[in-house]
Amino acid sequence: MRSYEAAVIGLGGMGSAILAHLAARGTHVVGLEQYGPAHALGASHGGSRIIRQAYYEHPAYVPLLLRAYELWDELQRRSGEHLLLRTGGLMVGAPESKVVSGALRSAREHGLVHQLLEASDLRRRFSVLRPLQHEVALYEEQAGLLFPEACVLAHLRWAVEAGAEARFGTQVRSWWETGRGVELELAGGERIQAEQLIVAAGAWLGKTARDAALPLRVERNVLHWFEPLAHREDFAADRFPVYLLEREGTPMLYGFPDLPGQGIKAAFHHSQEYTDLEHLARDVAAEEIAALKHALEGWAPDAVGRHLRSSVCMYTVTPDEHFVIGRHPTHPHVVLAGGFSGHGYKFCAVIGEAVAGLVVDGASPHAIDLFAPQRFVS
Ligand SMILES: Cc1cc2nc3c(=O)[nH]c(=O)nc-3n(C[C@H](O)[C@H](O)[C@H](O)COP(=O)(O)OP(=O)(O)OC[C@H]3O[C@@H](n4cnc5c(N)ncnc54)[C@H](O)[C@@H]3O)c2cc1C
Repeated sequence: MRSYEAAVIGLGGMGSAILAHLAARGTHVVGLEQYGPAHALGASHGGSRIIRQAYYEHPAYVPLLLRAYELWDELQRRSGEHLLLRTGGLMVGAPESKVVSGALRSAREHGLVHQLLEASDLRRRFSVLRPLQHEVALYEEQAGLLFPEACVLAHLRWAVEAGAEARFGTQVRSWWETGRGVELELAGGERIQAEQLIVAAGAWLGKTARDAALPLRVERNVLHWFEPLAHREDFAADRFPVYLLEREGTPMLYGFPDLPGQGIKAAFHHSQEYTDLEHLARDVAAEEIAALKHALEGWAPDAVGRHLRSSVCMYTVTPDEHFVIGRHPTHPHVVLAGGFSGHGYKFCAVIGEAVAGLVVDGASPHAIDLFAPQRFVS
């Protein structure tokens, strides 16, 4: 039976980063992925992911984000790939909205460079936008987007160069503690053992770490792409920021500039459509496209030309929408990394570093108490 110091289940955005950081620390590690590299069946696909620092969700995330930016820049240099594009970002809504007030709090608490723009400033600066009279926007220059598939491949390449083994088309059927570590059974019956196991299984976490009894829900979310209707040049990445828009009566809308070969992408954050792996509907209904078009027309009407495509993706949501990162409540040789609740991608690089610290040194170099799995143990 093959033995390792560590084994990682899942090589999506998180698992590929964890594998790379463990290998770079000299750990003898294997990564096990049921599908292929950078596949489109989990949560780490879709051409782009927003990254931002003035974090409306909670100021405690900001130190992690500042480190994530350093690590993404490092990975970009190391891989020679274009991974992170700083376009600037707008957090838009009424002054008291969650997005604006939360982003402002984080920016002020951590001294982040930002501007607060009135609706008239917004219209002047971004002529294709239609803010409502009472809306304001926090603008941060450092915000932008990551190319998720390229990031996964860059982490995998780094991992293998640093000595890791990455196995694709390899599903982990089950695992159990052995007292000295963990034994895993793979599809086809092969068994391997490892001193420590990291479960970074995305929407499959509830199934793969069943006995952690984590209150996770799988939420179906849809991404949409359009060809701009007019003024295409004004949606280019050097002129148009990523944005989050919070408006009464509609789910939060977020979107991206017009990217070469992609068009303009926009989507609702948190559809509240809960499902499970077996029943996930991967087809997109015309009504869903129409609802998104309607919201986008009320914000950037010239963005909404021909519909190009839509794609389904899964959030794994915790009740407090904070992540789950830490030791398994009842299995000391197992580390969990999941429950990223639709906002985890920007953190992949720093979560790779944090989990590698947990595995190799017994402690994360970054504050991750907010994400302790034990918070759900009653
Ligand atoms: C539509 C959408 C938009 C998003 N937008 C943003 C954004 O703009 N900014 C942002 O920061 N975040 C965003 N997110 C969140 C972010 O993409 C996720 O938090 C992140 O991708 C989670 O990565 P993961 O590695 O946990 O999951 P995944 O990428 O799904 O990886 C889990 C992997 O585990 C594998 N696996 C599971 N079980 C097994 C098994 N038994 N054996 C072997 N392999 C297994 C799966 O095949 C999969 O590859 C978005 C998410 C979605 C769905």
